Amino acid sequence: MTESVPTPNVASLVDSRVPWWLLLAACGGLVASVTWNLLERRRAYVDTAREELIEEVTHEQASDKMVELLRRNHRFAHGELAPLRTALASGQRPFAAVVCCADSRVSPELIFESGLGELFVVRPVIRTAGNLVDEIALGSLEFAVEHLGVQLLLVLGHGKCGAVSAVVKLTANSRVAVAAAQADGGHQHHDDNHPAHHIAHLVAKILPAVRSAMEVVSMEAGEVDQERLLDVAISENVLATQHEILSRSSILRSFAAHKKLAVRSGIYCLSSGVVSLIDP
Ligand SMILES: [Zn+2]
Repeated sequence: MTESVPTPNVASLVDSRVPWWLLLAACGGLVASVTWNLLERRRAYVDTAREELIEEVTHEQASDKMVELLRRNHRFAHGELAPLRTALASGQRPFAAVVCCADSRVSPELIFESGLGELFVVRPVIRTAGNLVDEIALGSLEFAVEHLGVQLLLVLGHGKCGAVSAVVKLTANSRVAVAAAQADGGHQHHDDNHPAHHIAHLVAKILPAVRSAMEVVSMEAGEVDQERLLDVAISENVLATQHEILSRSSILRSFAAHKKLAVRSGIYCLSSGVVSLIDP
């Protein structure tokens, strides 16, 4: 014979065996514990995120190239130019402005044996090449002439320019029509995130100089020499840049007209290091 076990009644337990103040304390403890755990988790999450961020930056800074840059900067900061650098901190008076390509081999300060504060260098189109001028470049040049007293502006092209060479090759491959069409279409279907959009604009900017070069070279006797075509296209592109600077900036045009600014163009030879002036 089994004895029947009565089902415990929770309500009766609460009512009869556990004091109300103890239950209240237990509930309070539970809430505090959950809140504390959530805060701990949140703190751990933030710490982890911060560590990941720090790790990412540290990793970048620890890269060989960054270390190399900082090492060179350290030498510069503690080198013999320190007194000049300190003197220039209060102002600059460059004697010339140079508009040049982004090519790493074309460094005006080295080419013209110039030091800190002597040249105002404008590399017009960030991360591209070919002496193309944009609004920011024009504004920089106007600032140099109007406020820094620059009296000479040199547009400097260079031999074997990759940007011009690319357009010459595109022209030869008849793909330039497609690229130019993309550039024209870009005004209607503007998509700055599409890589072809930027390249098409670069092509469209250099294309007139290449076409002009093709006319010049085709008028010369014999078969068209691709190297000769590239050289002429580079010259034409530099002169077109000079013309564009003066035609688009009334300030620079005015300074030039009043003989307060000389604007010249030149080509730098990568192998000989010589700059040859060219005239429109
Ligand atoms: Zn170039």
